[in-house]
Amino acid sequence: GNCDVIQREPGQKIRIASCSLAGCFGCHMSMLDIDELVVEVVHHLEYCRGPLNDVRELRDVDVGVVEGALCNEDNVKVLEQFRANCDLLVAVGACAINGGLPAMRNHFGLTACLKEAYLDAEGVVNPEIPRDAELPRLLNRVRPIQEVVKVDYFLPGCPPPAAAFTELFTALIEGREPAFDEDMVRFD
Ligand code: SF4
Repeated sequence: GNCDVIQREPGQKIRIASCSLAGCFGCHMSMLDIDELVVEVVHHLEYCRGPLNDVRELRDVDVGVVEGALCNEDNVKVLEQFRANCDLLVAVGACAINGGLPAMRNHFGLTACLKEAYLDAEGVVNPEIPRDAELPRLLNRVRPIQEVVKVDYFLPGCPPPAAAFTELFTALIEGREPAFDEDMVRFD
């Protein structure tokens, strides 16, 4: 991290939001795996928006936790909303940090992937590439989030271990910079 910690008045909760862009929710599951810290967390943190409470609106939060890569224009829009409304932005997991699994399609090109998935693959019954205007447009390349917005903290791993979330939340609560041990910084 290279930024100021969250300053707050006594009794004031730290407001957190999270989102899953092109991700599998595995990072969210790991975030929920923080065991007894949950008790501390509910005293000090307020979860404002995200898949855990299904709230979509996002306004003035302290910390935004972003899982997943950028696969489509909708992902970019959500990410930009997060950056505009969060003091600190945390990229969690391989997908957000370097594209991870979704970025494997970059090796083949978008057209080839669509063709394989919707036209040529074994078992396809109605070969047609979806073109509904309601569907978000796919990006030509899957992108990591720091290619589009500034990121304040990175929690690597697939998913990052619960201990890394524990350290992040404890540091936020204690008003200090997080310090991640070697075993929390995993790339598997
Ligand atoms: Fe899922 Fe791993 Fe991506 Fe997290 S980093 S969203 S666990 S694939």
